[in-house]
Amino acid sequence: MKIINGKKISNDVLNEIKKHVDGRMKNRKKIPHLAAVLVGEDGPSQTYVNSKIRACERVGFNSSLFKFHDKITENELLNEITKINENKEIDGFIVQLPLPPHIDQEKILTQVSPDKDVDGFHPLNYGKMTLGIDTFLPATPAGIIELIKRYKIDLSGKRCLVIGRSQIVGRPISILLSQNKPHANATVTLAHSRSKDLNLLCKNSDIIITAIGIPEFLKSSMVSDNTKIIDVGISRIDDDSNSKGYKIVGDVDFEDFNQRDVMITPVPGGVGPMTIAMLLSNTLKACKLND
Ligand code: NAD
Repeated sequence: MKIINGKKISNDVLNEIKKHVDGRMKNRKKIPHLAAVLVGEDGPSQTYVNSKIRACERVGFNSSLFKFHDKITENELLNEITKINENKEIDGFIVQLPLPPHIDQEKILTQVSPDKDVDGFHPLNYGKMTLGIDTFLPATPAGIIELIKRYKIDLSGKRCLVIGRSQIVGRPISILLSQNKPHANATVTLAHSRSKDLNLLCKNSDIIITAIGIPEFLKSSMVSDNTKIIDVGISRIDDDSNSKGYKIVGDVDFEDFNQRDVMITPVPGGVGPMTIAMLLSNTLKACKLND
């Protein structure tokens, strides 16, 4: 098994961003500023937001956290989003998902100004992505593409299976990899919970991208030699040997592939760090658009 090292590549991307920021400082240009909106006390959401803020510090970005209690009304939150849209200091911002059930997620994401939508979830940016027009790509699919580029994985004409059809990962990556663009041009199949014969689909694929959130779902017996596997899943499973009482695993049964001739992104250390790096890359892009 060969590792596709997302931690290393994300470090490279962050170093490149830091160089840009240093250059902007020298030239007295605006320093990129990323903001995050966090509603409620969801543990994993707080962890994700904190790691995004730490990454901002690392590359020299400014950052802000807008934290609201989970009883905030939809209208109040919409007003807060409008204020951030109008704040000239902030180049880009994200609304950490999930939102509490009484808030319409679609309404909130549509309120984010498309110019500041560094998550790429606004319908305008999503539409542009679908049409292949330059825009902010959703960070996780962008991170997957960056891994494919930097590992020089040739997808042209290859059979690519995406498992999971979420709006934030599975669907956008299936669209992007089927486009007539460099590092794409794959023949893409999008599988989901209703798909039949998943084992056969896996066996017949050159590259498998799995984003379903079922711990250690993909087994070695399902996959052919030389397959490239991108594991997006992040799940917590009980682990008494760990001081936290749990460990983080992906959708791939990593140990099961030990003796196999495949390439895999580990979890942690694969797609996760790439997602943060690409979010910062989008924020730099948003800042440059205001130069
Ligand atoms: P989701 O949780 O919204 O949906 C899961 C998808 O998996 C659905 O489309 C469903 O049809 C499909 N699915 C479920 N069971 C299946 C089965 N047995 N066979 C085939 N398909 C099946 O998806 P999501 O938000 O993309 O999250 C998926 C995983 O990726 C989660 O573990 C999440 O934590 C993780 N994630 C990681 C990152 C990252 O940066 N690494 C980013 C986003 C999500």
